[in-house]
Amino acid sequence: MQYKHQFVDGTEPSLPVGKVVCVGRNYADHAAELNNPIPTSPMLFMKPSTAVVEMSEPFAVPMDYGTVHFETEMAVLIGQPLKNANKYEIEDAIVGIGLGLDLTLRDLQSKLKERGHPWEKAKAFDGSCPLSPFIEPAAIDDIQNVQIRLTVNGKVRQDGNSSFMLNKVYPLVAYMSHYFTLLPGDVILTGTPAGVGAVSPGDKLIVELDERLRIETQVL
Ligand code: ZN
Repeated sequence: MQYKHQFVDGTEPSLPVGKVVCVGRNYADHAAELNNPIPTSPMLFMKPSTAVVEMSEPFAVPMDYGTVHFETEMAVLIGQPLKNANKYEIEDAIVGIGLGLDLTLRDLQSKLKERGHPWEKAKAFDGSCPLSPFIEPAAIDDIQNVQIRLTVNGKVRQDGNSSFMLNKVYPLVAYMSHYFTLLPGDVILTGTPAGVGAVSPGDKLIVELDERLRIETQVL
């Protein structure tokens, strides 16, 4: 099924599916688990619109390039253009909060990192960004105090809180908008807390944002 942005009530915001702008190592506990130093400025990368698939539908992962890791992240849906944006413009432009999986070909990424090559093949491949339906931002009291949880086959694997982000959402989006004009329909992935690990076909996933959003899905 063709992915379209959607709210949890089933309505569609009539926004195109744009690019996904992501940040690496935005939680100290995750940087530490991969033995990575904490960056001195936000480490940005992108996934194209062709990476996006519906999270609540069973999705496939590539099996030909080594280990595929899940990274569970808070996703932010942008509804207005942002360039060199300030926090008021950003607050106005955010039209949805949801969940994203930043699927990563970890073995390939390690090889690319060793050679000093770009990450795209490991991060931006087709289907590398399952997204949930979005919640209206007004329904969330504080986006910097949201629990992000992933359960794989009945076992909690990631359970982090957005209060531990190294770059909080508004400054992060502001920083991104200096380099990349954000357009209506673009999505921001805000980084993963610790606990990343491999996914395999047949795995059953439950992805949760507080008690407000709960997606049950499966890897094909
Ligand atoms: Zn990530």
